[in-house]
Order: sequence, then structure tokens, then C-alpha cells
Amino acid sequence: IEQSAYQNDKLAMLGKIAASIAHEIRNPLTSIRGFIQLLRPHLMQLGKEEYARIILTEIDRANDIIYEFLNSSKPSAPMKQNVHLPSLLQEVILLFESEALMKGSEIQLEAYDEELIASIDVKQVKQVFLNMMRNAMEAIEERGMDIRGRIDVVAKREGMHAEITVRDNGKGMDHLTKTRLFDPFFTTKAEGTGLGLAVSYRIVRNHGGSIRVTSNSGEGTDFKIYLPLVQ
Ligand code: ADP
Ligand code: MG
Repeated sequence: IEQSAYQNDKLAMLGKIAASIAHEIRNPLTSIRGFIQLLRPHLMQLGKEEYARIILTEIDRANDIIYEFLNSSKPSAPMKQNVHLPSLLQEVILLFESEALMKGSEIQLEAYDEELIASIDVKQVKQVFLNMMRNAMEAIEERGMDIRGRIDVVAKREGMHAEITVRDNGKGMDHLTKTRLFDPFFTTKAEGTGLGLAVSYRIVRNHGGSIRVTSNSGEGTDFKIYLPLVQ
């Protein structure tokens, strides 16, 4: 599936809008934060210091969200270093383990090649793996309880590339979704952003790689990410 120039323009434009909105929102947030700090002793006297704490926490959360959004939509040149892909995958999977345990799902990592080293921007590629895992978890959740959730991550060598498969037995995709999943803002989820795969696609392409998808509605989905290996 190829991403068109139109989609890239949309993503670039989004990056610009995100940057300017973030700037405009951050300034008032910073001054609100400052004034709450000043009010803190007064709130303390009233026995309402808890309110100050909540306001500060929420302001920080808003800032984090802006930062995340900015980070995921802004195109940046990859800062490359040699990375052992199975280790990076292990690191990402760890982040999902407690959630999987809680939901009774299983995550498996198989790495067939200890020499799978790619020259990548770790932060960016980690973001791609995180997006894939997050989508897999959500697909399992949406499928419901008729089957035990399972995510298989397989890393192996395919010629000059590392092939990383993220396979889930979640709800799968219908035809329309398959044709649009890389479009910025395309989402089938009530709370989705529709940015995860658009951003992932761009990151992987900036690394000289590609993404392939196979999916059957009601059965599951198989994402394959190809990244050039260090020879
Ligand atoms: P979001 O997760 O915010 O909806 P994404 O760009 O990550 O945005 O995904 C776009 C859409 O692709 C999702 O809304 C979903 O319909 C579909 N999709 C992505 N990954 C999977 C998956 N593993 N299983 C089923 N559908 C998926
Ligand atoms: Mg997503």
C-alpha cells in the first residue's frame, strides 16, 4: 500500500498547525501554572492545597499531550545509531506486559537472528513499534471475549532487511479500513486520532523501509515492517 503525496502534504500541514497551536496554548498554560504556584500558600491556609496539586498535575498533563502530538506529527531527520532490534522490541513489549496480563492476553517475542542490527533513530522506530502494539491490543479488546488475545512479534532476516511481524488475533479489518489505514486522521475508533499508522508509515519510509499489511475481518491482522540492516 503506497502513501500518496497528498497524504504527506496533509501530514506536513498538520505538523505546522500543531506547532503553532502548541506554541499558543503553552504560553497561557505557563502563566496559569505560575499564578497557581503563587496562590498555593493561600490555598494552603484555606486547607485547599489539594486543589493546587490537581491543577498543577493537569497543566503538566496538558503540556505532555501537546508535546506528544507535536513530536508525532513533526517530520524530523532521523538521528541514526546502530540498534539491536530484538532488544528494542523486548523493551517495547515489556511496556505492554502488565496490561496484557490484566486482560488475560499473551504476548510472544521470537527473534530468529541475534545479528539483527539496523541503523535507526531509536525514538522514532520505538514509536512505530509502540503504535503497532497499541493497535494490536485495541483490536483484541474490540474483538471481545470469544478468544484469548494473542500478539506474536517475530523478528527475522529477509535478505538485506529485518522483517518485524506484529500479528494479533483481534477483530481484523474490513476492506474500507484496509484501503485507508495509512491516511492521516482515518480512524474507526471513538477515541482514535488516526495518526498512529500515518506517522509510522512516514518514519519507516524515512528509514528506507516499508510496511505491509494482511488482515481478515474477525480473525486478526498481520503487520510486517521492513528495515534495512547494517551489513
Ligand atoms: P487509531 O489507532 O488512532 O485509530 P491508527 O493510525 O493507529 O489510528 O490506525 C488507523 C485504523 O487502522 C484504526 O482505527 C483501525 O481501524 C485500523 N487498525 C490499525 N491497526 C489495526 C489492527 N492491528 N487490527 C485491526 N485494525 C487496525
Ligand atoms: Mg493507533
